[in-house]
Order: sequence, then structure tokens, then C-alpha cells
Amino acid sequence: EERIVIVGAGQAGGELAAGLRKQGHQGRIVLLGDEPHPPYQRPPLSKGFLQGKVALSDLYLKPLSTYERFDIELRLGTRVEAIDRSARELSLQDGSRLGYDKLVLATGGRARRLSLPGMETAELENLFSVRSISDIETMRAKFVAGNRLLIIGGGYIGLEVAAVAVQLGLQVTVLEAAPRLLSRVTGPEVSTFIEELHHERGVEFRLSCEARGLELDEARQKVRGVHVARHGVPERLDADLVLVGIGLVPNTELASGAGLAVDDGIVVDEYACSADPAILAIGDCANQPSAYMGGRIRLESVPNAIEHARVAAATLMGKREPYAAIPWFWSDQYGLKLQMVGLSAGYEQCITRGSAGGKEFSAFYLKDKRVIAADVIGRPADFMAAKRLVSSRAQVEVTRLGDAAVPLASLAA
Ligand code: FAD
Repeated sequence: EERIVIVGAGQAGGELAAGLRKQGHQGRIVLLGDEPHPPYQRPPLSKGFLQGKVALSDLYLKPLSTYERFDIELRLGTRVEAIDRSARELSLQDGSRLGYDKLVLATGGRARRLSLPGMETAELENLFSVRSISDIETMRAKFVAGNRLLIIGGGYIGLEVAAVAVQLGLQVTVLEAAPRLLSRVTGPEVSTFIEELHHERGVEFRLSCEARGLELDEARQKVRGVHVARHGVPERLDADLVLVGIGLVPNTELASGAGLAVDDGIVVDEYACSADPAILAIGDCANQPSAYMGGRIRLESVPNAIEHARVAAATLMGKREPYAAIPWFWSDQYGLKLQMVGLSAGYEQCITRGSAGGKEFSAFYLKDKRVIAADVIGRPADFMAAKRLVSSRAQVEVTRLGDAAVPLASLAA
């Protein structure tokens, strides 16, 4: 019976291990993770967990007893150092080796680091990023009312932390190099909505503004200020705390070290298989073909991790079920749910419904009169309909789409 070894006890790895047992896999399942925690949800890290509203145990995807019940060998605090493909063995950090019949890489990614003058010091006590429980545990005690927090990067994680911090009474400034927030993932209408949402609560923004260097204290252990250039004009911003939220670097080193193809993620096919038939890759670390996009893509979202784990479980059970899901994602800020489906890159027209002032707002991105993506804020029924519109690829009547009196469901083919 096949021994399946999963590297990375995160969202995707945890889903896969349980999914394999549910589908009837009889052989050993070993789930290796370098963090001290069993698989957990990361979304609350920058939301309720940072705010102190979600307990640690509520982050865990399944209680530890479930792994025992499913006979999943969960080995935490265990880092995998290398893959020996010819021997089908892994080298672990403690020097031991572990054999596999099938190997699944579910190694996720790590926060992208800024490389700026002043950052040569390895650890700065008030400079943070957000990827893991331990990141939040380190920063939470310092999230005290009155502290000045400078967030570098106006993406989802930076904005979620801004929302929590301003509600905790911190003075928050968000620095974004692009001229608008979330510019890589949304249209200007949504960027403006989000900016106003935060601005009303007291968050300040510096757009078209690049961090150029850190000013450290005399002991060179803390950041005191950040040198920036706004539209090219130099400025210095004071900071008690600095959060860097500039994206993710996929953890692909194990794969590349073993000679597998890596191109913004570990290259896999629509069944989650690498070029080595014994090795699969799933979740944030994998780059896969997208039927929806007509190209290759690496996605960073919980729905993708879950779907990719489902596809890999099917592959490992000898079924061929290609990945066919449409990408979607959500974010929570100030109790408002933002939901996005599809990818808006390359859209020709944006049609909106609802009113930004009323905090209910949907933006539909069209190409060739087809809805290729949508951002929905506070209108959950629109989101369900938008998902159908995006997956049906049907052409829509643009004037009817823009008329909130016309039910969206009637537009779907
Ligand atoms: P991960 O969950 O990162 O798990 C990978 C695991 O592998 C990690 O524990 C890592 O330490 C471990 N690992 C790596 N290398 C090794 C090794 N060599 N040996 C052993 N273990 C290793 N998505 C949404 O859809 N909605 C949201 O609102 C949302 N909010 C988010 C907020 C934050 C703060 C973060 C960080 C992410 C958020 N995401 C959100 C993204 C989502 O959490 C990720 O897409 C998802 O966790 C990816 O799952 P994964 O299993 O691929 O990777």
C-alpha cells in the first residue's frame, strides 16, 4: 500500500490528508509541518486573531484528535531539507530520512521581505510581517492605542491589519507605491471605495509613495522612522511599529533543489502533478494551468488550497479530475465582507451596482461583453450570481447589468 507523504501542514496539506482518508486511502499518510501548530486557518490572523477576538484553538482546522482518528501521522516542528528523487526519500532537519511512494509539496509561501538600507540588522523588534501565528503573537502585545503604525504595502493583508489597528486606537498610515490601493487586483472604483472606507475611520494614506530606507535607533534594534519618496519627493515618516505587507514568495526551494521545474511556483499540470509522476504540488506554492484564464497561474487563497487538495486527492486515488474552479477570494474589513471572483486583468469596462456611500457595492469587469470578474461588497446575493456569470462566460446586456432593478440571475445564461 502506498505511503503518501505531505510536506507542509497548512490549509492545503491538512485538507489533503483528511480528504485522502475520506476517499478510502488505506496506506500510511504522513503530514510534516515545520510550525508547532496543526493545520490552521490563516485568514483570521490579520483579522479577528490580531484583534484578540478569535482564540488560538479556533484557528485550528481540525482538533488533534481527528488526525489520530484518521490515522494521519502528524509530525509538527519537522522541517524537510531535501528530496532525493531517485531513492524516493526526504532528508529531515533532525538528520533522519523518510521514504515515500507519493510526495505532495504543500509548502505555501513566506512573506516577501523589503530590502532597504537600514535592514541589514537581522531582527528589528518593531518590524513585522504577517504569515503565521507566531508573527501575530510577536506583534500583538505592541498593538497598543496611541502607537504609530506604518504599513508598507496597500494590499489585502496590509489593509486588514490597518482596519484592526485603527479600531484598537493606533495611528495608522499606509504606504503604497502604486497610485491607488489594490491596483493589481481591482479596478479604480473599488480602490476608491476601500480608501474612503479606511479614511473615514482615520487611516492615512501615502499613495505613489516608496519606502527608501529605515532609520534605526542607536542600538540598531528598532526602527524609528522610514524615509520615503512620494511622487519622487523625499519625506521622513515617524513610526513606533512598521508592518511590511508586500506579498508572498512561494516556498519552492525543495522542488528546485530536486531538479523540478519552478516558474513563480512549482510547475504542475491540471491534476496537480509535477514532471516526476511521484511528486505533486498544491496550494500557494504551485503554479498550475487555469482553464478559466487560458494560461498558467499561481493562486493564494483558501478556496484554491481546498480545491487543489481535492484535485490532488483524486489524482492519488487514481481518478483524473482536472482543476476547473474559478478563482475566488474574500477579505473582511470593519465587519464588511468583500468578495472577489475571477481575475479582472485585461478588462475593458467596469459596471457598478449599489452605492459606495451605502456600503453596498458591486463592480463587474467585462471583456467582450462577458463578465470576467467581479468585486462585491456587502451584497452576498450579487456574489452568488456573479460567480455564475463568470463561469458561464455568457455575453450580457450591459445596460441591464448596470440596472440594479434587473435581477442578476436573469442575466446568467
Ligand atoms: P500554508 O497555509 O502557508 O501552509 C504551508 C505550510 O508548509 C506552512 O505551515 C509552512 O511553514 C510549511 N512548510 C513550508 N516549507 C516546509 C518544509 N520544508 N518542511 C516542513 N514544512 C514546511 N485567503 C483567503 O481566501 N481569504 C482571506 O481572507 C485570506 N486572508 C489571509 C490573511 C493572512 C494574514 C494570510 C497570511 C493569508 C490569507 N489568505 C487568505 C491566504 C490563505 O491563507 C492561503 O492561500 C492558504 O493558507 C494557502 O494554503 P497552503 O497550504 O498552500 O499554504
